[in-house]
Amino acid sequence: MSDLYDLTIHEALDALRCGDITSVALTQAMLDRILAVDNTLQAYLTLTPEAALEQAEAADVLRAEGRDAPLLGIPIALKDNISTQGIETTAGSKILEGYVPPFDATIVRKLKAAGAIILGKTNLDEFAMGSSTEHSAFFPTRNPWDVTRVPGGSSGGSAAAVAVGEALAAVGTDTGGSVRQPAALCGVVGVRPTYGRCSRYGLVAFASSLDQAGPLTRDVTDAALMLQVMAGHDPQDGTTWPEPVPDYSVALSPDVRGLRIGIPREYFAEGLQPDVERSVREALQVFVELGAELVDVHLPHTDYALSTYYLVAPAEASANLARFDGVRYGYRAEGHFETIGDLYEQTRGAGFGPEVLRRIMLGAYALSAGYYDAYYLKAQKVRTLIKGDFDAAFTNVDLIAGPTSPVTAFHLGERTADPLQMYLADIFTLSQALAGIPAISLPCGFDADGLPVGLQLAAPALQEARMFHAAFAYEQATKWWMQRPSISK
Ligand code: GLN
Repeated sequence: MSDLYDLTIHEALDALRCGDITSVALTQAMLDRILAVDNTLQAYLTLTPEAALEQAEAADVLRAEGRDAPLLGIPIALKDNISTQGIETTAGSKILEGYVPPFDATIVRKLKAAGAIILGKTNLDEFAMGSSTEHSAFFPTRNPWDVTRVPGGSSGGSAAAVAVGEALAAVGTDTGGSVRQPAALCGVVGVRPTYGRCSRYGLVAFASSLDQAGPLTRDVTDAALMLQVMAGHDPQDGTTWPEPVPDYSVALSPDVRGLRIGIPREYFAEGLQPDVERSVREALQVFVELGAELVDVHLPHTDYALSTYYLVAPAEASANLARFDGVRYGYRAEGHFETIGDLYEQTRGAGFGPEVLRRIMLGAYALSAGYYDAYYLKAQKVRTLIKGDFDAAFTNVDLIAGPTSPVTAFHLGERTADPLQMYLADIFTLSQALAGIPAISLPCGFDADGLPVGLQLAAPALQEARMFHAAFAYEQATKWWMQRPSISK
């Protein structure tokens, strides 16, 4: 057997179920791996080794009693903007440093109930605002394929941890690409579910009409296993879908004959790294060889996705982040304050990093009297047009394919000086988020520097099973996912 930390969830479950390994051994292997590589990668903000080993022991006892559960004894990691009872949850921000939630997010409760073991909390861009994990208030995470490069973001800690074997799987959040883009840059599978498929209860809110949690895993089967547990209606989140969650495992078939895959010309435009385009086009040919059909589609409002997203998301963020005022949560500025306004101003000025402050300013401006109609309302209308593009395309195709990210992992510091350059890293992942539809990123090759490339497949709302089906078929035919980084340079 390969190293335990290298297993997929389904391989580990097979080994646990037939008694070849114990959850304690598996969890210890992950903790040893973290000890060996995390000084370099810095994927984790918080580790909970004692609790993890205790949970692993409990899982082994349950198994010995003949019990089972979908993730019984499987060690995973959670992005640090997901509330965990009794475990610090910072959202990568100084303003929440030391904050220990009194409750678990619904998805955490579900994962624990399914038997998952929490290894710790992973690094992210502050409040999930960014594409490189460099906006973390604590430290940047490094890409395991080349430690001079970023892992993507904002779920960069989760992606790097899964890629290198510091967790069998991780949960991230995706507001405009934060699961899919780091998955692409780290060579793992990442899923953004349909808006409302997973509960947002207990996620630290960034942009409430866009935020969704999703899994990062080594392969498609694992992604389906994780989403199966995470998805479903939650009375605590009125935006969750009441529709039952289908059994995703039955969708995992290699036969995609007759599947119609839409290729938007807008996703193969200027700015796309030639190596990325080549890998993605080769991936599309694999689908043709498997009997699928490629169909040209047109998503005419794609060019407006960036400006629409960067009005809607900051507007919602400026409202959501108003609660961090030094009164109830985390950080409070030191000193004597004449007015409550002074307390707010100094706490927020010192507690938020520059990117978060920029978003609050942008959002408050777009919502302000006199500008609301010109910016926020206009952006909402364009958002509807973007959704309409997908509705129209899906009348003729089953899925829409393209690159996840226009580029492979960039160097640390390369894009931090220019916010627009950072925003452009999400150019292909914003539209699906605005439209509320699901999308998956999966490994589809490497560039000339040996850095992973991601293929993105998007499906109509609630059609995650269709997406898993095609992704599984591709994965079976190619095996890119089997490549592992050997922490280089
Ligand atoms: N990079 C985008 C942003 O900075 C998306 C982030 C996300 O999906 N959380 O807003």
